[in-house]
Amino acid sequence: MTHTTTNRNGLSSNLHSAPSRELAGLVLALFGMLMLLGLVQYHGLRASILADLGSSAELIAQNTSYAIVIENDTEAHELLTALATSSNLRQARLESLDGRLLAVYAGGSTHWSHSLVLLKVSRPVLAFGKPVGNLILTGSSQKLLIWTAVFLGVGCLAIFGAWLASWFSAKRAAKTARQAQQSLAWMSRHDPLTGCANREELRAHLRELQRRAEGMSALYLIDLDDFGVINAAYGAQQGDVILRVIAQRLQHLLGSADCLARLSADEFALSLTQGDEPGFANFSRKIQAVLREPIFIGNIALRPTACIGMALLPVDGADEDSAIRAASAALSAARLAGHGGFSRYAQAHDREMRERAELAEALRQALAKAEFHLHYQPIYSIHDQSLCGAEALLRWHHPTRGMISPERFIPIAESAGLIEEIGLQVLGLVHKNRLEWLSRGLKVPPIAINLSSLQFLREQSKDTFIQRLRDLELGPEALEIELTERAAFEEIEAEDSIINRLKSLGYCLSLDDFGTGYSSLSYLHRINCDKLKIDRSFVRRMEQDPSARQLVKAIVEVAHAFQMKTVAEGVETAGELEALRQVGSDAVQGYLLDRPLDANGFSTRLSTGQASR
Ligand code: C2E
Ligand code: CA
Ligand code: CA
Repeated sequence: MTHTTTNRNGLSSNLHSAPSRELAGLVLALFGMLMLLGLVQYHGLRASILADLGSSAELIAQNTSYAIVIENDTEAHELLTALATSSNLRQARLESLDGRLLAVYAGGSTHWSHSLVLLKVSRPVLAFGKPVGNLILTGSSQKLLIWTAVFLGVGCLAIFGAWLASWFSAKRAAKTARQAQQSLAWMSRHDPLTGCANREELRAHLRELQRRAEGMSALYLIDLDDFGVINAAYGAQQGDVILRVIAQRLQHLLGSADCLARLSADEFALSLTQGDEPGFANFSRKIQAVLREPIFIGNIALRPTACIGMALLPVDGADEDSAIRAASAALSAARLAGHGGFSRYAQAHDREMRERAELAEALRQALAKAEFHLHYQPIYSIHDQSLCGAEALLRWHHPTRGMISPERFIPIAESAGLIEEIGLQVLGLVHKNRLEWLSRGLKVPPIAINLSSLQFLREQSKDTFIQRLRDLELGPEALEIELTERAAFEEIEAEDSIINRLKSLGYCLSLDDFGTGYSSLSYLHRINCDKLKIDRSFVRRMEQDPSARQLVKAIVEVAHAFQMKTVAEGVETAGELEALRQVGSDAVQGYLLDRPLDANGFSTRLSTGQASR
C-alpha cells in the first residue's frame, strides 16, 4: 500500500512540475526575444534620430558659414535659432575653429528625461571649401527612450499575460490530471458499482491485519442465492440496484477497521476484526438478517438469502491467500446445505476440495474412456398409467469407487468445465439406445434429457449442441429437454437463448424441479416451456400437509392456464399418486411406478407400454 501511495504522490508532483518547468523556459525564451527586438528597435530609432540631426546639421552648417566669416555672432545666433527646427534637437553650438563659442541654441523641453541619453552630431562649417568653425548638435533621447520603454513595457505585459494564462491552465491541467489519477487509483482498488473494495484491496487489507497481528479476525465469503435468476427475472439494472442496497446494508454492519469487498457478480467478502469465535459465528446470523430484509421492486418484496463461508485469521489461514482459500472451502461446504447455508472452515473442507479436484480429474478420464451410461425412468400418464415418456439419467461407474451419484458429479463437472462435453455424450448415448430399441421394433416415446445452464457458456456451444442433434437425427419426436428454473430464467431475455432456439426447432421443454429454486408462478408465462415438473419435495408433503396439497393444486391450475402439462416427480406412495390425481396433474414419475432402469430394463416397459405394478 505504501508503495502505491508513494508512486501516486510522485506521479502527481511530476504532473505538476513538468508543465511549470516548460512554462518557465518558454517565458525566458520570449523574454530574450523581446529584449532582442527591443535592442533592434532601439538602434533603429537611434539611427533615425541621428540621421535627422545629421540633416539639420548640414542645413545649419551651410547657412551659418557666412555669419562666422564676418564674425557676426548675433546673426549666427539668429540663424541658429531659425534653423534649429528638428524636434529631436536639444542644443546647437556654433564654435570657431579655436573652440570659442560663437552662438548657442538651447531648444525644446527641459524635462529631465531629455538629458538621459544625449546624441551628438558635429559638422565642420565650411566657407569656400575651407573650415571656418564647428557645429555641434546635441539630440534629445526622449523619443528613443519613450518608444523603447513602451515597446518593452507592452512586450513584458504580453509575456506576463501569456505566462499568467498558461500558469492557470497548467494548474488546471495538473488538477484534472491529479483528479483523474486519484479516481484511477480508486478504481483500481474498488468495485465501481457498489463502491466496495475489490479483491486486491481485500488482500491488502488482510495483509495489513496479518502485519498488525492484533488478535483474531474473521473473513466471510457471502454468495447471494439465485442472483442470476433475479437478474434474469427483473433485468440487470434492477440486479445492480439490489447489489447496491445489499452492499450498503453490509457496510452498515462494519466498523472503521473492517473491510467489505465485492469479489464477483454476486459474491461479497467481509473481514471483521477484534472478536472471538462465538461472536464471529453470531455475526453471520446478523449478515443473513440484514440480507433478508425486504427489497421492493415495484410492489414485489424480495428477501435475498446467501450462503456464507467463514474462516478465522490467523488460525485457519495465516496469510491472505490461505485465508481466502479457507473461507472459499467453507463457502463450498455452506452451499451444500442449500440456500442460506453457513459453514465455518474446517480441515474437512480441504479434504472435500481435494476430493472434488480428484473427481474432476477422474471425470476427465471417464469422458475420454466413455465410462458413462444412461438409465431411463419411465413417465406415466396419470389417467391410465400408460407409458408416455422417460427421463434419461446419467450414471457413472467409477473404476474404484463404484457408482457415483449425478448429484455428486454433475456439480463437479459443471465447475470443472466438463459439462458441455458430458451433455454431448448424453446425446450419443440416447441415440445409441434408441436405435437399438427401434431395431427391435419397439415404439419409443420422446426421451427427456437434463440440460445444465453451464453447458452453454461458450460462444459456440449452442451451435455445437444443435448440430449434434442434427447429426444424430434426434428430432423433437425423439427428444425432450428438461431445464431447471435457474437455467430457464437466465435464458429468458436472449433472442438466441438455447430455450428459444430449441423451441423454434419444435422441441418440447420442461421446467425441472419446480418449487425448489426461484419458483414464481407469476413468471411462468415468460418462460417458453411446455411442461412443468413438480419437485418431489412438494409431492412428499401432499399426503400429510393440506397446505402442500393446496399449493400443488394451485401450481397445476396455473400451469394449465398457461397451456403447460404437469409431471409430478418422486412419487413413492399410492397416497401421493391419488392426491396428484385429485389435483389434476397430467403425468407421474417415481419409485412407486418405476425406478430408473438400464436400457435393457427400459425396453421391457417399451414392449408392454405399462408400468410393472
Ligand atoms: P432430476 O432431474 O430431478 O432427476 C430426478 C432424480 O430423482 C433422479 O436422481 C431420480 O433417480 C430421482 N428419483 C426418481 N424417482 C424418485 C423417487 O420416487 N424418490 C426419490 N427419492 N428419488 C427419485 P438421479 O438420477 O440421482 O439424478 C439426480 C440429478 O442429477 C437429476 O435430478 C439431474 O438434476 C441431474 N442429472 C442426472 N442426469 C443428468 C444429465 O444427463 N445431465 C445433467 N445436466 N444433469 C443430470
Ligand atoms: Ca430432470
Ligand atoms: Ca427434477
